[in-house]
Amino acid sequence: MSNRDYYEILGVPRNASQEEIKKAYRKLAMQYHPDRNPGDKTAEEKFKEIGTAYAVLSDPVKRQQYDRYGHEMPSTGGGGFGGMNIDPFEIFREFFGGSFGGFTTGFESIFGAQDRDEVSLHGANLQVTLDLELEEIAKGVEKKIKLRKYITCNACHGSGARSGSGSAECRTCRGRGQVRQVQRTILGQISTVTTCPDCNGTGSIIQDPCPVCQGEGRIRGETTVTVQVPMGVQEGHYLTLRGQGHAGRRGAPAGNLIVHFREKEHKYFTRHNDDLIYELAISFPKAALGGEVEVPTINGRAKIKIPPGTQSGKKLRMKNAGLPHLNGYGNGDQIVVITVWVPEKLTARQRELLEKLEQENIGPNTNTDKSFFEKLREKLL
Ligand SMILES: [Zn+2]
Ligand SMILES: [Zn+2]
Repeated sequence: MSNRDYYEILGVPRNASQEEIKKAYRKLAMQYHPDRNPGDKTAEEKFKEIGTAYAVLSDPVKRQQYDRYGHEMPSTGGGGFGGMNIDPFEIFREFFGGSFGGFTTGFESIFGAQDRDEVSLHGANLQVTLDLELEEIAKGVEKKIKLRKYITCNACHGSGARSGSGSAECRTCRGRGQVRQVQRTILGQISTVTTCPDCNGTGSIIQDPCPVCQGEGRIRGETTVTVQVPMGVQEGHYLTLRGQGHAGRRGAPAGNLIVHFREKEHKYFTRHNDDLIYELAISFPKAALGGEVEVPTINGRAKIKIPPGTQSGKKLRMKNAGLPHLNGYGNGDQIVVITVWVPEKLTARQRELLEKLEQENIGPNTNTDKSFFEKLREKLL
């Protein structure tokens, strides 16, 4: 990732207010979102840059550190900005409240699939992979997933305190949940904010912990989550279900559940974007004479016309018989790739007929030059 100045990336002055930073981010993120610029690597790069810049400048503590040290901020336990695990899509969703749709492609490999927020009270994210049949992708499907995860403790409703008992403000951090530490380094004093060790960031001390969860406010459990898989999803797409990850400690917000989609191999079809490739073997007479043939499609069987004089390798396009586009507008095609089948065993009568056909001399010349195949390939395309 480039080391461009974060203020420059967002196009705001160094003394910009939080409101100005928000506004700039909103405008740029909408403009460069990969969903709006499919296949555009530059836009993708920009979108990531914008997300990182916003993540730093919108956080007063990080912004202050950035103002002081720039990109070369020395590592202070938590790592510099370079070590920050920023998912631009997560930031985008946080900002827009998920209204833009939760689909993105290919970013898992870049950002990894780590669970974050381990030190804070927030519940960690959960990742699951869902295997889908092409038929399910064609129509969209509702799936139920069983999950083992932290769930809110029922006995204390997540508070962590034995029912009826209360909690007192933590004296170490005075209820803030964080403590400031000053370290001396060769670059001067660096102050870092860390989770309060006495209350683990909760800001309060429970006097009588809940016996079921030992004051955690959550317990290990199992739940079933229903996932609506939209039509047209692809391997590499994922869906974020907000608040369906691990429950937070002591009533803090739960993490997200990230559902990754994986396609199962299909008996007949190979997917190419939203097109479905189907290979069809036909007899030599059918190829020469033409005729109608029944083929499977994702929505049942259908008939296609084989034109007379069809060569092996010819591609026949069945318009709109492919998978639906994810945006909801239209479908891909089914592409039928023809192979002319040559029989390996012949009955006496078949042999006799073929020998007669051979005498009719209907094949190409035996010494064909390259231009013949070039012409043939042109026809196939
Ligand atoms: Zn409890
Ligand atoms: Zn504390």
